[in-house]
Amino acid sequence: MSAAGAPLVHLVGAGPGDPDLLTVKALRLLQGAEVVVYDRLVSPAILELVPAGAARIYVGKADGRHTLPQDEINALLVKLARTGHGVVRLKGGDPFIFGRGSEEAEHLARNGIAFEIVPGVTAASGCAAGFGIPLTHRGLASGVRFVTGHCGDDGELELNWASLADPDTTLVVYMGLATLPKISRRLIAAGLPADTPAAAIANGTTPSQTLCRGTLADLPRKTAGTTLKAPVLIVIGRVVTMAEVLDALPWQPDIAISEERRASHA
Ligand code: SAH
Repeated sequence: MSAAGAPLVHLVGAGPGDPDLLTVKALRLLQGAEVVVYDRLVSPAILELVPAGAARIYVGKADGRHTLPQDEINALLVKLARTGHGVVRLKGGDPFIFGRGSEEAEHLARNGIAFEIVPGVTAASGCAAGFGIPLTHRGLASGVRFVTGHCGDDGELELNWASLADPDTTLVVYMGLATLPKISRRLIAAGLPADTPAAAIANGTTPSQTLCRGTLADLPRKTAGTTLKAPVLIVIGRVVTMAEVLDALPWQPDIAISEERRASHA
């Protein structure tokens, strides 16, 4: 993509945490990387795959707070690309879903730097799958929407509540833990039933992943009473009930657990 020639920068999705969820292409690029520029959301298990001789540059972006401001990250990528080394810009999840990958791509393109986007498993898919929650399900959700719960610079959460309050659509909120009380209030006020199932998934797809389940009305209270380790993803919709349905069956999404379960159900 973009300027002619082999890509000098790869904007690579690292997935939500579990290294087994890296794409084959992401793994190949990581193993051959000379310089890796990464965010806070990239899990330590994935960083271990970077060759010992490669330079690692932490730019610490998480939930809107930056160790390096975005324009400095953009400038750094151009500078590194011009040294002629292969640069892997590694981002949590998918680079084009709340990852500012497109801002970096635009900056590279404007500076004539050839780049390539390598998609990754986004948190919504990874976290939900880890707990047996489908994002769509016949009869429960005919669609899914990904929204940000992060407030703009003015401290306001600019979401179209009327359009989001749809019981037939799953709502996935990224960066939404801090604003969950407001999200819950506004959705209920816009007509989404207060008893709509809802879940908060912390640290999804990693060994310390946790699930906090409730309803649209009580999830803010439940999450406030639990220590959820960031990052946290919120899923709102009837599909959340499927976790219970699948859990009641002698099957678990995680293979290790599944073996134990099968044994205990045998
Ligand atoms: N580009 C990323 C999203 C970056 S925004 C992607 O596609 O997944 C950061 C938000 O993503 C976090 O605040 C959280 O809501 C969510 N997130 C990312 N990884 C997560 C994980 N392992 N568990 C739970 N939430 C996660």
